[in-house]
Amino acid sequence: MKKKVIVLGSTGSIGRNALEVLRGLESDFEVVGLAAGSKAAELVEQTNLIRPSAVAIAQTDQLQEITSGLDYSPVVLNGPDALVRLVEEVEWDCAICAVVGAGGLAATLRAVERGGRIALANKEAMVVAGAILMPLAKRTGAEILPIDSEHSAVFQALQAGKRSEVRRVILTASGGPFRTFSEEQMDYVTFKDALRHPTWNMGPKITVDSATMMNKALEIIEARWLFDLRTDQIDVLIHPESIVHSLVEFRDGSVMAQMGSPDMRTPIQYALTYPDRLPCPSARLDLFATGRLSFHPPDSTRFPALRLGHEVASRGGTTGAVLNAANESAVELFRQGAIGFRDIARITEKALLEHDYIAAPTLTELLAADRWARNEVTRCPAC
Ligand code: MG
Repeated sequence: MKKKVIVLGSTGSIGRNALEVLRGLESDFEVVGLAAGSKAAELVEQTNLIRPSAVAIAQTDQLQEITSGLDYSPVVLNGPDALVRLVEEVEWDCAICAVVGAGGLAATLRAVERGGRIALANKEAMVVAGAILMPLAKRTGAEILPIDSEHSAVFQALQAGKRSEVRRVILTASGGPFRTFSEEQMDYVTFKDALRHPTWNMGPKITVDSATMMNKALEIIEARWLFDLRTDQIDVLIHPESIVHSLVEFRDGSVMAQMGSPDMRTPIQYALTYPDRLPCPSARLDLFATGRLSFHPPDSTRFPALRLGHEVASRGGTTGAVLNAANESAVELFRQGAIGFRDIARITEKALLEHDYIAAPTLTELLAADRWARNEVTRCPAC
């Protein structure tokens, strides 16, 4: 029996890579649902090619483009709750949650509620609501496997020992395009400059997050929830070559590193096929061609987002929702040219300082904290 897969966020960078991986796994997996936020033309093209039984698009005004473009008659879901309904109405074994941002939380949450395998790329969902998602997964038996390359690496390295034997995990970071820039130089960088990532080819939001290193902050928080770690067990190491994807240090001094070429298809496929490893179209690692692997300490003075990541991982409560929402809004303002690059971390930190902290929030309170942070940032970015 083939495993039934739904792909939430199929038109994004992870979604497109996932569909490519799934093409190579056709004898084991069947795509039964595709969902996207707004890219109707691309979604139509994917749907006509893959022929799932259901397709969902969130943007209301794009329904017409979907129905007129399809050359067969799958179930079409439309509207702000279309992704959640796809999760509810389609029978699936594995959900690839690859929507970018907190906008993916509702569908990810619903998928975890349903149970089954969750291949998680939507790290923001874990940052906002890890305290709700992880206990929920335990109750429903949902198996959350990370797609994020660092967390996939940690997940793989953890298999070398017992959880109680782990001393710490070390998340690697490329350092992004401004790794060697001074603070003064960073004052003048533009959105276009931030999109030039040295090693990874990714969507615009995560690429800007990599440049500010907010991506690593989100990943510290994601690791804290996924692997139930204390904050002092999570370190960050700058590794510009992006070959070592992360490491786990055990109490006997052994350090297990997972390596590979910087290609998301490997962690995507492993989240689908675990515990099996199958041939994958990703480029093979050539260490002779790489030549040298280098490692540097992170600099949280030039990249203050890193400090925020550790703070939020320690404090928990509403801080993850606020950090993520403030950052999402600030990245959007930076894209519009309304604020400077270094304002992103400054504005995010200010929102964290000023928000009404709740230690054990409900989902409703988390969503309220998210809304508050977005309003606060867009109301007066210069304040
Ligand atoms: Mg990552």
